[in-house]
Amino acid sequence: MDKSIFENYAGLEGGQLLGPILRDFRGRAAVVSSFGAESAVLLHMVAGIDRSSPIIFLDTGKHFWETLSYRSMLIDKLGLTGVRVIEPDIADLAATDPDGTLQKSNADLCCHIRKTLPLQRALQGFDVTISGRKRYHGAARATLDFLSIADDRLKVEPLAGFSALDLAAYMKAHDLPAHPLTEIGYFSIGCEPCTQAGGTAADPRAGRWAGSSKTECGIHWTHNGKDMPAPSVASH
Ligand code: SF4
Repeated sequence: MDKSIFENYAGLEGGQLLGPILRDFRGRAAVVSSFGAESAVLLHMVAGIDRSSPIIFLDTGKHFWETLSYRSMLIDKLGLTGVRVIEPDIADLAATDPDGTLQKSNADLCCHIRKTLPLQRALQGFDVTISGRKRYHGAARATLDFLSIADDRLKVEPLAGFSALDLAAYMKAHDLPAHPLTEIGYFSIGCEPCTQAGGTAADPRAGRWAGSSKTECGIHWTHNGKDMPAPSVASH
């Protein structure tokens, strides 16, 4: 995969970018969704193009029950038929996080075995990944490109240019249900042990890994905007 492919999609974003990508790479493009606070927008766009598109959900074993319930409800409402639930490797958990508390001592390693490794395995055979990250979330995301290439795979960010207002307007226009935790003050929602209520439209991810310098889980292959080497099991 080389950057000349960007020319095919120059100037496109949102559904106008997603449509040709899903058609051109049918069966070879995977959407990665957390079914979190703003996920319904991208998932609704996908449903409007091809309900059978592969959608990967990483079930870390640490999600809020509200997220799992919301996932089931959105799948039904949008008629999504391509959702794949990916879980951590049992042997990795047994060796590295036997009591399920690794996030307290080594959050990077916990994300590595519960998110990064399972996703890398799930993406084998896909040429394109699509996610719903936005520049307005700031930090490493502030300079997101709509298109990039990593690990010889095309990465597509159709919502990179969307603001909080754009997302709210889209949700309202299409009568999309909100994640239940957004109604009690959660702006960004990940695993339960690492997510607090809070955040603002100006800093929506403030409730993620609050009190630490960590801002990303690593599934996008960077940590705080820098290339992230795989954490060592020995560092636990
Ligand atoms: S977000 Fe927290 S609980 Fe979830 S995988 Fe990362 S460190 Fe572990």
